[in-house]
Amino acid sequence: MTTLRSDELPTELVARLTEGVTGSGRTVCHNAFTGRPLAELPEAAPAEVTAAFRRARDAQDLWAQWPVRRRAAVLLRFHDLLLDRQDEVLDLIQLETGKARLHAHEEVQAVLCAARHYGRRAPGYLRPRRHAGVFLFLTRVRELRHPRGVVGHISPWNYPLELSVGDALPALVAGNAVVMKPDTETALTALWARRLLIEAGLPAEVWQIVLGAGPVVGPQVVREADYVTFTGSTRTGREVARTAAGRLIGASLELGGKNAMLVLADADIERAAAGAVRACFSSAGQLCISIERLYVHESVADAFVRRFTEHTRAMRLGAQLDYGADMGSLSSRAQLETVERHVADAVGQGATVRTGGRARPDLGPYFYEPTILEGVRPPMLVCAEETFGPVVSVYRFTEEADAVARANATPYGLNASVWSRDGRRARRIAARLRAGTVNVNEAFAAAYGSVGAPMGGWGDSGLGRRHGAEGITKYTEAQTVAQQRLLPMGPPVLGLDDRRYAALVSRMLRVLKALRVR
Ligand code: NAD
Repeated sequence: MTTLRSDELPTELVARLTEGVTGSGRTVCHNAFTGRPLAELPEAAPAEVTAAFRRARDAQDLWAQWPVRRRAAVLLRFHDLLLDRQDEVLDLIQLETGKARLHAHEEVQAVLCAARHYGRRAPGYLRPRRHAGVFLFLTRVRELRHPRGVVGHISPWNYPLELSVGDALPALVAGNAVVMKPDTETALTALWARRLLIEAGLPAEVWQIVLGAGPVVGPQVVREADYVTFTGSTRTGREVARTAAGRLIGASLELGGKNAMLVLADADIERAAAGAVRACFSSAGQLCISIERLYVHESVADAFVRRFTEHTRAMRLGAQLDYGADMGSLSSRAQLETVERHVADAVGQGATVRTGGRARPDLGPYFYEPTILEGVRPPMLVCAEETFGPVVSVYRFTEEADAVARANATPYGLNASVWSRDGRRARRIAARLRAGTVNVNEAFAAAYGSVGAPMGGWGDSGLGRRHGAEGITKYTEAQTVAQQRLLPMGPPVLGLDDRRYAALVSRMLRVLKALRVR
């Protein structure tokens, strides 16, 4: 634990974090545990966003000329610095989001994994690749990967370390500059990460951060970028996609979810009940991949609900900047109001509260108890809308096919979870679920933490993927360089006229087919 305990951060610390950040206006971020101001930060006007892009563009040229291995070494040094200095940023994440320290540490873990993965693997992902030429031996083909230029990066407040620097690392190591607009309420975490990356060797101008109101600064970022990476709500994601489409630039969009967990009749009920606590209440449910719909086989439902309720009632809620609390606070009044509205609407229409169902102002202004609902039906808001809070609805099923159909009955498709002692059966069901990641006997971390594999959403949950090869190649333009040797690609060749030339090529294609070369 460090000393960042008071409501207002020391001005020297804020000055250090905001060094080099443009903005003639002022804006304020708040302490989520108390609701009081935490720091005053520079706010950028649209013209200042444009100026930040200009500086990033100037710096990108030179950065892209560094050998990939030299850029990758910055990520590896950043990894080591973050391991050593994690307590500083854990405090900031907790203060800005209100989450428990263990949940803040999950962000640190995710960024460490991404830094090592792309630090070690980027040279391989980006290296020129050979392809078979149209004429064997006569055509030499190389696929090259060029950086796109300046990536516009817009991120939300719920995972301020992971969704800022975690997602920026592959863009940077691919040779791009980044202009990032984090949510103002959690900007300190992103600013801290930027300083650490500069300490690790990143040229300062290559990563610009601009702050300000989403509907003002966000669209300006999209208007200036060569590629956009956006994480946030589906509603804003559609707006970003429309502007990007108008400019014919690419965009990857990581959006909302209404994720389902299936507990099959042969599941280990004790493990599933404990797993459901993590699945539903990590970061107070303000996690895009957390579970809000729980489908349990009728034969084990009573036992599961009993154990899940006991585990949930035993959770310790707390606001301390230290380990020990099982769940922290919601991040803002707006989040608390959504949670209260969803629960009141469900209860008003006949849903039963198994545990929770009330705010805890005695702990802090935005605390809300982890809540389990039963008897939830389609007209209720909580049934189909993303609550993004510590609220889960339990449903019962008897037929596997019915459980799969109900889990898939949503426009979203981000994450899902299946619990069974029969791994093969669980994997078979996983393949029938419409979701970008499916975890077996785990909630979300098995897939998310496996950074070599793609992660992202189907349907209204987004476009594109983070992690793995796609998580870095999306930040590049592919270029095919084909060199023709010895013979030209058309007549006159070997003295043949057009007819004979066409006949020769047709014969060659038959031979290649027979030899299974083509
Ligand atoms: P949001 O869409 O309100 O805001 C996200 C970011 O966009 C913020 O920085 C905001 O200032 C900015 N913004 C707002 N209006 C904009 C505009 N018109 N143009 C451009 N940018 C604009 O989302 P939020 O409430 O901050 O985040 C919660 C949502 O994010 C949830 O739906 C959650 O599921 C989703 N999320 C998804 C993932 C994922 O990986 N799929 C991860 C985390 C959060």
